[in-house]
Amino acid sequence: MAKHEFQTEVSQLLDLIIHSLYSHREIFIRELISNASDALDKLKYLTLADESFKDFNFDPRIDISFDEENQNTITIADTGIGMNEQDLNEQLGTIARSGTKNFLSQLSGDSKKDSNLIGRFGVGFYSAFMVADRVEVISRKAGEEQAWRWTSDGRSGYDLEPAERDGHGTTVTLFLSDDGKEFASRWQIQDVVKKYSDHIAFPIYLYYTKKEYDDQGKVTSEDLTEEQVNSASALWKRSKSELTEEDYNEFYKTISHDDNDPLLYLHTQAEGTLEYTTLFYVPQQAPLDMYYADYQPGVKLYVKRVFITDDAKELMPTYLRFVRGIIDSEDLPLNVSREMLQQNRVLANIRQASVKKLLGEFARIAKDEPEKYKTFVEQFNRPLKEGLYSDFTNRDQLLELIRFKSTKADGYTSLAEYKERMLPDQKAIYFITGEGENTLRNSPLLEAYKKRDIEVLIADDDIDEVVVPTIGTYEETELKSVNRSDAGEDLQAEKDEQKEQDLGPVVEKIKKALGDRVKDVKVSVRLSDSPSCIVVDENDPTMKMQQLLKAMGQTDTSEVKPILEINPDHELVKRLKTTEDESYVEDMSVLLLDQALLVENVPIKEPAEFVRRMNRVLERA
Ligand code: ADP
Repeated sequence: MAKHEFQTEVSQLLDLIIHSLYSHREIFIRELISNASDALDKLKYLTLADESFKDFNFDPRIDISFDEENQNTITIADTGIGMNEQDLNEQLGTIARSGTKNFLSQLSGDSKKDSNLIGRFGVGFYSAFMVADRVEVISRKAGEEQAWRWTSDGRSGYDLEPAERDGHGTTVTLFLSDDGKEFASRWQIQDVVKKYSDHIAFPIYLYYTKKEYDDQGKVTSEDLTEEQVNSASALWKRSKSELTEEDYNEFYKTISHDDNDPLLYLHTQAEGTLEYTTLFYVPQQAPLDMYYADYQPGVKLYVKRVFITDDAKELMPTYLRFVRGIIDSEDLPLNVSREMLQQNRVLANIRQASVKKLLGEFARIAKDEPEKYKTFVEQFNRPLKEGLYSDFTNRDQLLELIRFKSTKADGYTSLAEYKERMLPDQKAIYFITGEGENTLRNSPLLEAYKKRDIEVLIADDDIDEVVVPTIGTYEETELKSVNRSDAGEDLQAEKDEQKEQDLGPVVEKIKKALGDRVKDVKVSVRLSDSPSCIVVDENDPTMKMQQLLKAMGQTDTSEVKPILEINPDHELVKRLKTTEDESYVEDMSVLLLDQALLVENVPIKEPAEFVRRMNRVLERA
């Protein structure tokens, strides 16, 4: 017998499970049935799509039995695809799911918070250890002769050895711990199956002894009975009017690794040129792997109720990768291959219609259920913004769905709401980008807008830097960045030719002092309290964008320089008019630039030099 160690992540997860963070222990039955059902799906697909499995004897079923006498075991067996030695090592000894490390590092030791997190992560097979001291898996892979026995106490690793099994499939036996014994009961198992696994497309049989009694309560007969305990109809094929919210919610849990109810669901049964059913869900919280390139797609493809794949990213556009659910088509061939999926016209049409439906539903919720939409935005605003530069067909719809923070509204606001609040003669929609909401709210760039009561959107999301400037116009109103040198028509009134002329010599002095540290020096129309600010030229990347590009390893080092704007009414600037002391002018010029960089959260190059200059100026004052 070969002993094996668990991958560290598995040990950590098991440790968590055994110290019972989970509140609903009965879900282990759901998880094991769901694995059995997946294994049956996979084999069914092979028998339809793979020549070598054409004449395979396949009787798909899941059998559950338990020790009635001692109440110390539960056994769940399936006739699915099974696992060989390598599969068992890879699948029951490691966790391949992306985001696992991150998930584990987020655990705080606070069991309430952690159990919420683990609910989103899903523990799958390992949930068996919530009720069992030891778990045995005997499995034989379809098409192979040798079976294997995997056993573990969930602590010290696992043992793997050759074994025997009649036919292909997997048998999982749980040796129940003392407080797991309550689950070895006909009623418990039946309840859980009804609640969580009723729609599983394969029959689930439960074995128990049926006893009959006479008038005196004496047992007259005992029969080992086999009873089908689920209705085995694909839930999404049932008519909507038959289904309750609870049905939908429980189905969500079996397909999603999530213990919470979904935020919303959307069930569509399309008939006509294309016949298909879709059932989509949006989780309450973003999936843990949402920002990983190798995220697990959430939508499964079925053809005529036969499972085809759960690993096809092309079923949904990337920006809707948080959507869970199924697509079941009547028009695709059963042997559709992965490669075919990419250019399949039927699928492309279903996908297009599905995206429209989903975006329509989001819009409806935004209108009718603002509280719910708020939760949605908190989790999914960012992926929707990604859609703005990847899905041009739905651009208008997406522009209605995305939200911003703003200098005038609490919480989130839409572009439509901004437009309604615009001043009568206001020409553009203004936004500021950069690092951190607070920094942006306090930026000197906003001073003139605040003074004139013009609203500015706070675009503080990383992705805003890339996406918002590409919007261009919304409903014929131009979007303008306040980070750019052209402050927009709305501030033109602040322009004062006289002041500009007066300051001409000062501007020249500063330019000379700063040399090639700046692209230009200008008299500002947008400042009222601060002495200076930086902006970028119309077509240059913003300071924040430059930082992002650098972080992404952009090698082009030709640095784009900011434009320094000075406040003609500020005391520090005025003082420069009267001095001829060159070293003072130089110190002041550099300080005006460095402080403008600092308030925008842009790191300055030589902090020590900054401090020396500041001290020199302070000494003089
Ligand atoms: P998940 O179901 O999320 O992949 P699990 O921990 O529940 O995670 O299972 C890990 C893997 O073990 C599954 O992906 C599957 O490949 C394999 N597996 C588990 N149970 C079975 C089973 N009854 N038959 C075949 N393979 C199984």
